[in-house]
Amino acid sequence: MTNHTIPAGPGRLTVDLDALARNFHKLRTIASPSECGAVIKADAYGLGMEAVARRLFAEGCRRFFVASADEGTQLRTVLAGASIYVFEGVLDGREEVLLGADLVPVLNSIEQIRRWQGAAPGRRCLVHIDTGMSRLGLSAAEVGVVSEQGLVDDLDVEYVMTHLACADEPSHPLTAEQLERFDALRGKLPEARTSIGSSPGILLNASCRGDLVRPGIALYGGNPFVSGDNPMEPVATAEGVILQIREVTEPLTVGYGATCTAEPPSRLATVGVGYADGYPRALGNRGVGFLAGEKVPLVGRVSMDLITLDVSGIPPEQARPGAYVELLGPNVLLDDVARAAGTISYEILTGLGRRWVRRYVPDDTGRQRAK
Ligand SMILES: *Cc1c(COP(=O)(O)O)cnc(C)c1O
Repeated sequence: MTNHTIPAGPGRLTVDLDALARNFHKLRTIASPSECGAVIKADAYGLGMEAVARRLFAEGCRRFFVASADEGTQLRTVLAGASIYVFEGVLDGREEVLLGADLVPVLNSIEQIRRWQGAAPGRRCLVHIDTGMSRLGLSAAEVGVVSEQGLVDDLDVEYVMTHLACADEPSHPLTAEQLERFDALRGKLPEARTSIGSSPGILLNASCRGDLVRPGIALYGGNPFVSGDNPMEPVATAEGVILQIREVTEPLTVGYGATCTAEPPSRLATVGVGYADGYPRALGNRGVGFLAGEKVPLVGRVSMDLITLDVSGIPPEQARPGAYVELLGPNVLLDDVARAAGTISYEILTGLGRRWVRRYVPDDTGRQRAK
C-alpha cells in the first residue's frame, strides 16, 4: 500500500476570479447603457469580499453594495476609490462609522432621512422606495410625507432605488406592478437617477434595470432565474478530500440511522466534509460527487464532518485517500445541489463554512503584494 498525504482541512474551495470577471462583463454588456455595480454583502456571498472586490474593481466596477456599515468599513480598507453603498442605511449611532469610512447609506425611512440630514447635511445618499418587498424602504405614504415636507431636498440623492420581488419568474405579474408604483412614487421626489435590477431584473428587460444595476448571485455563477438554462459561468468549486476507502465484502449499513445498506461487491469512500461545512444534511442519500470523470452517489446520511460516497465504478488509483472529489463546481452544478437540498444557490454559497481552504485562481496574493 502506498501512503498518501491527506491535505489539511475538509477540502478546498477554489474561486475562479477569471470566471467572476467574465460574468461581470457579460452583465455589464447586457445592462449597458445602465451602469453595472456589484453586490458583495455577506463576504461576497461566501466567496471572500476582499479578493472579489479587488478583481471587480480591476475590471472597472466602481459601485459596490454591502448589507451593513461593518461590512462597508471592512470593504473600505480594500477599495480606496469606489463608492460603497450600505443597504441597512444609517442606524442610530452609526453615523460616524459611515462618515469615517466614506460610506453612502441607502436611506430606508423618514427617520433615517432626518438622521442623515442631521449628521451629514448635503451628503451623498440613496433613497429606497419599497414597492412590494415590505422589508426596507419608504412606503407610498412615507414618500408622500417626504415629498410634502421636502425632506430630501437638501441631500445629494445619487439614486432612487427599489427591489423587485419576483423578477426570477419572468411571467410574474408583480414585476410590472412594482415598476408602475416605483415610477409614480419617484415622480414625487426630486429628479434623480434610478437603481432597480438585481441579477434576474438585469437579464429580464431594460425596464427592470434603471441607471445602475445591482447584481449579486449572477456574478457568483448562480442561475438568476427559478428555471431554465443558466447563462452564467460557475465561479466556485468545492472539493472534499477522501479520508478512507472501504471494500464492501458483505452487506454493510452506512451512517447514522443505518438508512442505507451497501451490498458487495462495492467500494465506499469517506470524505471529510459535512453539514458543519455547509454541505446540506438534506442531501443524505441524494447528493453526488464527481471523481475521475464520473458522478458518484452519496450514500447514507450527511454527518457533521463526514459523508460517504459509493465509488465502486472508479479505479482504486483514483478513488484513494488524499484524492479530491468535486462536491460543487462545473460538474456538480450549484443550482442542482441547491434544488436537491430544497434550497437556493444563495444559501448554499453563503453557508459554506470556515474550514475550507480557500484559494483564488489566478492567485490573488501577488496582486496584494504589488499594492
Ligand atoms: C442582495 C440584494 C441584491 C442582489 O441580489 P441578487 O439576486 O443576488 O442579484 C440587490 N439589491 C438588494 C436590495 C439586495 O438586498
